Amino acid sequence: LSKFESIKEKQKVGILGGTFDPIHFAHLATAEFIRDKYNLDWIFFIPTGNPPHKLGIKTDKYDRYNMVLLATETNDDFIALDIEIERNKQTYTVDTLKDLKKMYPNAELYFITGADAICEVESWRGVKKNFEMATFIAATRPGISLLKAQEKIEQLERKYDTSIISVYVPSLDISSTYIREQIEAGKTVRYLMPEPVEKYMQRKDLYKQIEE
Ligand code: ATP
Ligand code: MG
Repeated sequence: LSKFESIKEKQKVGILGGTFDPIHFAHLATAEFIRDKYNLDWIFFIPTGNPPHKLGIKTDKYDRYNMVLLATETNDDFIALDIEIERNKQTYTVDTLKDLKKMYPNAELYFITGADAICEVESWRGVKKNFEMATFIAATRPGISLLKAQEKIEQLERKYDTSIISVYVPSLDISSTYIREQIEAGKTVRYLMPEPVEKYMQRKDLYKQIEE
């Protein structure tokens, strides 16, 4: 919170939303690359509370948030925010952006997504409003066709009269789904996320198959 309070109005703020179930190195490396490339002052990591898209999440939202806290703690430019976690209704990006706009009316907001997420952005509530409130930055993601993502981006730009930054990020082929599957199968997930996150998962027995 102390880091958060020192944010000044004119600053450029990147936002990475996600279920972070769990957070991994690709989230962190992508955010850091974009922060550096576009001279962003801060990156907010905002884990979703009860996302309408992912009703199948089994992990407690506080566990997901705690792992984001652990993963971002060693980077002074990264801030874990619980504004969606603390909202008791279903959470939508559009409401989060409105809240951030209210808190920082003069900050420039950049919403970061992976190539998979930008392709789904039209299914989110308040698409047009989202594009008005933040500049979207779409990062490449291994396994997601660049051509398909690029076509989608151009289509969105025309339809919503907006511009979306698309950026090649030398990234990692890691997904939370893969991590969950590895753990369920009793396989290793070492070096896919910061160690404190790995330890947390172990301590809380996260993603282990529950015997019926
Ligand atoms: P899941 O497999 O559960 O969907 P995930 O790895 O996709 O998990 P999310 O929390 O869904 O992680 O993603 C949050 C954001 O981070 C999304 O915009 C997603 O596109 C982006 N992202 C996740 N992994 C990568 C990656 N390897 N490279 C680039 N972007 C990524
Ligand atoms: Mg995902």
